Amino acid sequence: MDPVEVAAAPPDTGPGPVWQSKCPWGAPNTASISCSLADVMSEQLAKELQLEEENAAFPEVVAVAEGPFITGENVDTSSDLMLAQMLQMEFDREYDAQLRREEKKINGDSKVSISFENYRKVHPYDSDSSEDEVDWQDTRHDPYRADKPTTTPRKGFIGKGKDITTKHDEVVCGRKNTARMENFAPEFQVGDGIGMDLKLSNQVFNALKQHAYSEERRSARLHEKKEHSTAEKAVDPKTRLLLYKMVNAGMLETITGCVSTGKESVVFHAYGGNATEGKVIPPECAIKVFKTTLNEFKNRDKYIKDDYRFKDRFSKLNPRKIIRMWAEKEMHNLTRMQNAGIPCPEVVILKKHVLVMSFIGQDQVPAPKLKDVTLSSEDMKKAYYQILNMMQQLYKECNLVHADLSEYNMLWHDGKVWLIDVSQSVEPTHPHGLEFLFRDCRNVSQFFQKGGVAEALNERELFNAVSGLNITADNEVDFQAEIEALEKMNEDHVQNHGKKLSMFSSDGDPPVYDE
Ligand code: ADP
Ligand code: MG
Repeated sequence: MDPVEVAAAPPDTGPGPVWQSKCPWGAPNTASISCSLADVMSEQLAKELQLEEENAAFPEVVAVAEGPFITGENVDTSSDLMLAQMLQMEFDREYDAQLRREEKKINGDSKVSISFENYRKVHPYDSDSSEDEVDWQDTRHDPYRADKPTTTPRKGFIGKGKDITTKHDEVVCGRKNTARMENFAPEFQVGDGIGMDLKLSNQVFNALKQHAYSEERRSARLHEKKEHSTAEKAVDPKTRLLLYKMVNAGMLETITGCVSTGKESVVFHAYGGNATEGKVIPPECAIKVFKTTLNEFKNRDKYIKDDYRFKDRFSKLNPRKIIRMWAEKEMHNLTRMQNAGIPCPEVVILKKHVLVMSFIGQDQVPAPKLKDVTLSSEDMKKAYYQILNMMQQLYKECNLVHADLSEYNMLWHDGKVWLIDVSQSVEPTHPHGLEFLFRDCRNVSQFFQKGGVAEALNERELFNAVSGLNITADNEVDFQAEIEALEKMNEDHVQNHGKKLSMFSSDGDPPVYDE
């Protein structure tokens, strides 16, 4: 196609010749940029323009220095969006680097290797790092384009007599098929056909086309998964921004890294910063980020849905807000425990689904869970009595049942047990509160009985000791039936009288066991 002239703004060249002023369409352009219509229409140009625009919007992407996750010093703070993107990028890269190490470790020198590529955050197809770059972007010379594309007119053939070529001609058709491969997604590797007069039969071309499309769909799926998994790790861009703001405000000095990744939350370690809102920030903090994906929430709604403290709000809230309520619930429960003097993290601040509390542990190392620590028999006994006391305090003074109490949610620090993870804790009058308590008792009993504490009560004795109730059934099935009957009675009472039964209130003194 012939080049056409595309007008650009005329430079100020002073008064032009006379005929210029007479021209009804204004001055014809003397200085113009010459480029062909094909160029204007080309994808390449579109890409370049887009790139330019993006560059203008995000002038530079600052590489985040190796080291702490987020600090107050190593980031440019001028654009929230850019920061969020930088953080996401850094996080994804860290994740991929770890993945590569894992992949290397697993494969070793084995001839058959397993690829983790599909789990990578920075998918090669959308990567912007040179390491992951694929060379499809180099379109200066397209080896598959036919030198002079032969077009078949509408009538379906060209030429005359024995030189007639129809659209069914094998050679023409084969070359055309080869050329048509350029319509496949750019990341689709079509092989090295440079210098070859490659002719693809219809059958081969169709099979390739099919494969190219399914690859394209797979890539889209992977990308989708990537977006999703970011959210699943709880540190989606919005959360990162929230964390960053805490650092920027000086409340936290540095967020050093991840301490735990659970089904429902991710916990980070941070060094505390300056006092905020009159509150002294502990030197080391734990940041619990509640996951904002909703899969897990469904398993847990029974804890919160029936909790009268949140009942009115529950029905009116969207699931995202309910997740914030988990964080809120943990905060309230921790505060109650703190007031009762139970060893537990101290609440620092709550922002949406992010709860900052004091760190149980030292120098970035969290205190070990009871399940991971080997205690002397003396310490084991001490721990048992401490837990018994804490369960009673929790029930009586805090009016709470932990509801997920086990060696997984108790940390051993400074020669004593610390309770954590109380977002699911409920009041004993919760419709399932006593069942939760019984389950807690079973976990605690079994752990200490297995751990060789001869004094450890069995789960039924422990339940009575904590609740102050006197359920006499001597086997588990009957015991549980009585618990459920009590819960039902309470529910009916609440329905009819609008208040709970007196036996649930804390006026009956449960026996306290001393060391
Ligand atoms: P999850 O609901 O994911 O179990 P947890 O509150 O139990 O959440 O926290 C998960 C892990 O994070 C804990 O097992 C513990 O190792 C660590 N952790 C949580 N809170 C703290 C804290 N305040 N100090 C130190 N480590 C903590
Ligand atoms: Mg836990």
